[in-house]
Amino acid sequence: MRRYDVTIGRASQAIRAGSWVHEKLLEMPAARTLEALPMATVTPAPQPPLEGYTFEGYRNPDGSVGTRNLLAITTTVQCVAGVVAHALQRIRDELLPQYPNVDGVVALEHSYGCGVAIDAPDAVIPIRTLRHISLNPNFGGEVMVVSLGCEKLQPERMLPPGTITLMPGAPQTPDLVRLQDDKHVGFQSMISSILEAAEQHLERLNRRRRETVPASELVVGVQCGGSDAFSGVTANPAVGFAADLLVRAGATIMFSENTEVRDAVEQLTSRAATPEVAEAIVRELGWYDRYLERGRVDRSANTTPGNKAGGLSNIVEKAMGSIVKSGRMPIAHVLAPGEKLRRDQRGLVFAATPASDFICGTLQLAAGMNLHVFTTGRGTPYGLAACPVVKVATRSDLARRWHDLMDLNAGQVADGAKSIEELGWELFHLLLDVASGRRTWAEQHRLHNSLVLFNPAPVT
Ligand code: CA
Repeated sequence: MRRYDVTIGRASQAIRAGSWVHEKLLEMPAARTLEALPMATVTPAPQPPLEGYTFEGYRNPDGSVGTRNLLAITTTVQCVAGVVAHALQRIRDELLPQYPNVDGVVALEHSYGCGVAIDAPDAVIPIRTLRHISLNPNFGGEVMVVSLGCEKLQPERMLPPGTITLMPGAPQTPDLVRLQDDKHVGFQSMISSILEAAEQHLERLNRRRRETVPASELVVGVQCGGSDAFSGVTANPAVGFAADLLVRAGATIMFSENTEVRDAVEQLTSRAATPEVAEAIVRELGWYDRYLERGRVDRSANTTPGNKAGGLSNIVEKAMGSIVKSGRMPIAHVLAPGEKLRRDQRGLVFAATPASDFICGTLQLAAGMNLHVFTTGRGTPYGLAACPVVKVATRSDLARRWHDLMDLNAGQVADGAKSIEELGWELFHLLLDVASGRRTWAEQHRLHNSLVLFNPAPVT
């Protein structure tokens, strides 16, 4: 059985022409080993640069650009989440109206910080993820931290001195509110400390204005969730076309989702810009194979009942449809989970992450994403508080029913109304508009999911 010019399985019995090819009728091929892969063997035809495209963004002290002007409150441990949520509501109600240039306030709440084996080798992943999220370009280099006091993840461990380029005029160490400090007598004094700290940051954030910046300052993360059989023929190819346009405009585009690229590993290593990049892809996917083996599963644990009802027979078929989001450009860089892009790392990037929508989005935020593209066939109201999410429907039926949740309808490709190229250009322009401040449906409804950390290390 072939799809996308790849064998997705062998028929285990005769299948009548025109009938549904589902997983029970297919024997799935074994995953390609990570030995003897073609390394950096394909050189895609060079494409002319796209010049003159810009958006209106917030320039940060470290040179990066935000698409939103948000105050983020970093937390070191889940214990403080309730207090921070209470303070957040007061900030929204009482402070934000005085600072009209600030788009919002976000609590970086998570389940890590204590009760974890913090010195385990793999603990580096959740720790650096939290560090790097608080430095996301949409937070303007303003970092304020709320800590409990006795937790394992101490603020200095999360944000070692020297890791932050702060705004001019900002204190040179991140603001820290520690709830167990003796000065806090009662709940209200904790809330007052957080509000007081927030006000200093809001003052500075409020003075910022959008300015015209080149499209090359976009750092776009792409992923899919709730995929169906149309994902790989409508939405994902349109995203892939837009990805190529973004790379030609000098921007950065990240694709991820290890289990959804694993079966296409040959395509990735051969498209790597250099043998070193190809080796980094093998290193990341090999590490992930072993991580899955420890849990006694493999990549086939990825597919959902909805994927299957939507016509995807197995993970091989899903992966081949997923990978086209990355377009056709050479893969220029590879990031391990939780790593942050350097300013000189541009172009197409493979950011190795699990495929879970929330974990992938969280890790892409840590990598420095300032705009997110999300394709869906079954439909999901996914959103992130830290970054605009542009949702692309794979089918017109979904786009019609979820008319105030889907930002773009790639089902028009299947309907014959638009070509992949036309839709790709449309998405490219939509991304520049959203980066400049146009609000997505998820933003208008204030829909957002939780940050979810990838913690492959033990808890205690
Ligand atoms: Ca996903």
